[in-house]
Amino acid sequence: MSSILVFCRDCAKQVPSSQTKNGYCLDCQVRRSVADLREEHARLWRKRERYRSQNANVEQIGRQIARVEDRMALRIKELISNEREAADLLRRELETARGQRYTIKGV
Ligand SMILES: [Zn+2]
Repeated sequence: MSSILVFCRDCAKQVPSSQTKNGYCLDCQVRRSVADLREEHARLWRKRERYRSQNANVEQIGRQIARVEDRMALRIKELISNEREAADLLRRELETARGQRYTIKGV
């Protein structure tokens, strides 16, 4: 069984055509599907950092962040049937989302 390689129309990575959807590779499908949630996540994260620096209660914001992360997980699961693969991709998305605070800080 052979699968032809195609270029993802977003990141231009070469991937088996069987893994693409609408010309996008799996990574890009995931990234695009959670893009709005990533923004929401970053917004809440910044808010929490701000509150924390003012010694305010951040418990509620923490719960909101957890909810956004749950929604990201759901969307990724909808895209990817393989559970382990879905978990890997979610972890990467969350690491990226959480890591964003370092680049956004001070804005
Ligand atoms: Zn791609």
